[in-house]
Amino acid sequence: MSASNHAAAFALPATDALSSSLGGRKNLVGLSRDELEAEMLSVGLEKFRARQLWHWIYHRGATDFAVMTTLAKPVREKLAESYAVARPTIVRDLKSVDGTRKWLLRMPDGQEVESVHIPEEDRGTLCVSSQVGCTLTCRFCHTGTQRLVRNLDASEIVAQVMLARDALGEWPAPPDGRMISNIVMMGMGEPLFNYENVAKALKIVMDGDGISISKRRITLSTSGVVPAMKRCGEELNVNLAVSLHAVTDELRDIIMPINRKYPLKELMDACRTYPGLNNARRITFEYVMLKGVNDSPADARALVKLLEGIPSKINLIPFNPWPGAPYERSTDRAIQVFGDIVNNAGYASPVRTTRGEDIMAACGQLKSASVRLSAADRAAIEKVLAEKDAALAG
Ligand code: SAH
Ligand code: SF4
Repeated sequence: MSASNHAAAFALPATDALSSSLGGRKNLVGLSRDELEAEMLSVGLEKFRARQLWHWIYHRGATDFAVMTTLAKPVREKLAESYAVARPTIVRDLKSVDGTRKWLLRMPDGQEVESVHIPEEDRGTLCVSSQVGCTLTCRFCHTGTQRLVRNLDASEIVAQVMLARDALGEWPAPPDGRMISNIVMMGMGEPLFNYENVAKALKIVMDGDGISISKRRITLSTSGVVPAMKRCGEELNVNLAVSLHAVTDELRDIIMPINRKYPLKELMDACRTYPGLNNARRITFEYVMLKGVNDSPADARALVKLLEGIPSKINLIPFNPWPGAPYERSTDRAIQVFGDIVNNAGYASPVRTTRGEDIMAACGQLKSASVRLSAADRAAIEKVLAEKDAALAG
């Protein structure tokens, strides 16, 4: 299956549920500028209203037409008849002792996704989801064990940023010192299997008259959907992170089944030719440290060799265990030895500090429940994984 077929096969209609939850009104969030202009014309309003609305929706964060005072009252009333500026519902809002915040969002059709905000001294990063669940079945990832998968539409992706801004009181968008200065597409789902919606959403997020987060502060993480990588670089030109996690096809085939479709050689070629790459703009290779599986000094040396000639950073991620996971986190010592080898070869290789552990907020284990699995649950997970693997192979 091609990447685009794959996305279509798993795209369920979300718009019907939304429209009925809004009393038949249409949500304006997630429309491109052109689409917003077309909407204005369709209800007999001038095209330039779209520009005014854009500013209110994406710069000021307005959710109610009544506050949009640069629009005449009859215009506001007319808009309110046909349209809404909707947000998903926050069903859980968890705050970690370290300041990390996790929101569980419910979409109108009942599906749920999570976003996580990670504050740091000089920046704040929002980890955004691209799908409900994930069709892939990476063995170390909890998201892959979820049976239900659908693509998020552009409005649901943009809305994660907007809701975080609501919660952090960041409207109108401040030019500097923002709580949300960076975006990583590292939440639930494989963003390059939902490329159209992710691209549309990121274009809105990057728009200078609105949320205005620069492409240099946006990173998209992929498990290696080779055919979509070039387009992502050309059209969006955001930073790329690649979930590598293994240095041989033999191991990567097992822990990341997408490797059977796009093996390491193809993946590395796509990285080497990623548009806009240079020494100031490198690919981040994510490498989850799994005890006794991929964390030996020989693996580290093979990693260095594999990345030869690619402007790279390496992000070592201590594995985040989840109930029923088949792996363990590498020891601190193994991570250090591995990191030293990579560092000595000239690559920056920061170890990702684990944040928000008390609220299970780590990227890659979103929406996990803190339960112990019974043998029956474990068998059920295995069944889901086997079914999804078969779909991927088909
Ligand atoms: N689907 C995309 C983006 C979401 S996952 C991708 O795979 O790149 C974001 C990152 O978290 C990926 O590097 C993923 O491999 C990693 N990850 C998943 N499960 C993890 C776990 N249990 N512990 C640590 N990292 C994990
Ligand atoms: Fe999907 Fe990424 Fe998890 Fe793999 S690591 S199952 S691609 S979300």
